[in-house]
Amino acid sequence: MGKAMILAGIAEEYLPPAKPFEPVRWNVVAGALQGLYPPNVRANCPNCGKSADTESQKGTADQMVFSHCTGQREYCPPDVSREYQRRWQEWRKEFQPKLLAKEQREREMQATRAVAYLPTRGR
Ligand SMILES: [Zn+2]
Repeated sequence: MGKAMILAGIAEEYLPPAKPFEPVRWNVVAGALQGLYPPNVRANCPNCGKSADTESQKGTADQMVFSHCTGQREYCPPDVSREYQRRWQEWRKEFQPKLLAKEQREREMQATRAVAYLPTRGR
């Protein structure tokens, strides 16, 4: 009996270890329409499978808090944050003027259409 318990104890020690907790993957991804929209910070958890994308017009997407795995909260690591800041600055210089110009054109087109569709008074 004692021997059986020792054997059981030994057997227990050799149980395969629990699945290790894999770290959350963080990266910076280009915004929609070939980067016309600002870059996103993406977090993905290989353990629970949850992922989140954050976009910001102010360059603050790296301040996102990623909650997953029943309430764990994670913050963007400094190297990913630096990468995001670099790409966001690039976006601001190169793509933000294009996006603003595109939005301006759309507003103008809508204004033109609105005028065109104004009801004309019958004479
Ligand atoms: Zn998780």
